[in-house]
Amino acid sequence: MTATFRIGVPSKGRLSELAAELLREAGLNFRRSERSLFARCRDIPIDVTFLRTEDIPVLCAEGAIDMGVTGSDLVAESGADVAERLDLGVGQCRLAICVPEASDVKTPADLDGCRVATSFPNNTARYLKQHGATAHLVTLSGSVEVMIALGVAEAIVDLVETGSTLAANQLRILDEIGRYQTVLIQNRQCRQPELADRVVRRLEGVVIARGYSLLEYNVPRAKLAEAERITPGFNSPTVSSLEDPDWCAIRVMVRRSTVIEIMERLEALGASAVLETRITNCRL
Ligand code: AMP
Repeated sequence: MTATFRIGVPSKGRLSELAAELLREAGLNFRRSERSLFARCRDIPIDVTFLRTEDIPVLCAEGAIDMGVTGSDLVAESGADVAERLDLGVGQCRLAICVPEASDVKTPADLDGCRVATSFPNNTARYLKQHGATAHLVTLSGSVEVMIALGVAEAIVDLVETGSTLAANQLRILDEIGRYQTVLIQNRQCRQPELADRVVRRLEGVVIARGYSLLEYNVPRAKLAEAERITPGFNSPTVSSLEDPDWCAIRVMVRRSTVIEIMERLEALGASAVLETRITNCRL
C-alpha cells in the first residue's frame, strides 16, 4: 500500500496562514491540532504536514513530502531539485543587495574585499562571482538589515517586499538579484501524479479567481467593438441581447487590479449598469 499523499506547508511565520487559507479555499480542508505534525484532509486522501518553510524544498526533493508550499527564494537557495508547479500569487518579494544610503559603492564589483551579511549565502556567492567580486560572507538566520549598523558588514543581501525595512535602516538597493514568490513545488518522482495534478488544478482555480473579477455591463450596440477592445476577456466576452435592440449586455473577466480604470473607460464610452462581481473559484 502506498503511503498517503503528503503536502508540506509552513508551520509558522508569514506564509503559514496564507498557505492554509489557500488550501482551504481549494477544498483541502483540514484541522490542525496544536503542535501536531500532520492533519488529514477531509474528502480527499491527502495529509498536510507542518514543516519549517526553509526545509520544505529539501524535504520535497528527498521524497518526505510529495508537494509543498514554500518561497521560490528558498528553492533557489537550497538548490533542491524539485518541480515548481504553480506560482501562488502571494509572498512576492525581491532579493536585493543593499548598501547604506550614503555609501559611494556604485557597482557590485566595488564590493570586492568587503563583508556581506545575508541569509542567502548560496545566491549571494553566485551573484558576487558573476560580478567578479570576492567578499567575506556573514551568514545569519535573520535580522540581516541591522548588520551594517552593528559593524558586521558593509553590504547586505536580503528580501525586500515594500522597502520600508530598508528605509528604516537608511539602506538603498544597489542591485536586484532575483524576484520570488510563494510557489507550489512537487517531487520529481511523485508517486501519485494524478493526485498532484488535481491539487495543482484546484489551487490554480483559486489563484486565478483572486486575480480577476467578473464585470457585467450594458452598452449601445454601436459601441460594442470599442467595448470589446477595452474588455477583451480571456477568449472573447459573452454578449447577450437586450429587449432594446440598440443595446447589448456583456459579461467578461477583468484583471482585478485594472477594474476601476476599466469601469471609468466603459462609463466614458457610454456603458451603463457596470457591475463588478468578485469570483472565489474558477476552472478555465
Ligand atoms: P519590507 O520592509 O516590506 O521590504 O520587508 C522586508 C522584510 O521582510 C525583510 O526583513 C525580509 O526578510 C522580510 N520579507 C519580505 N518579503 C518576504 C518573503 N516573501 N518571505 C520571507 N520574508 C520576507
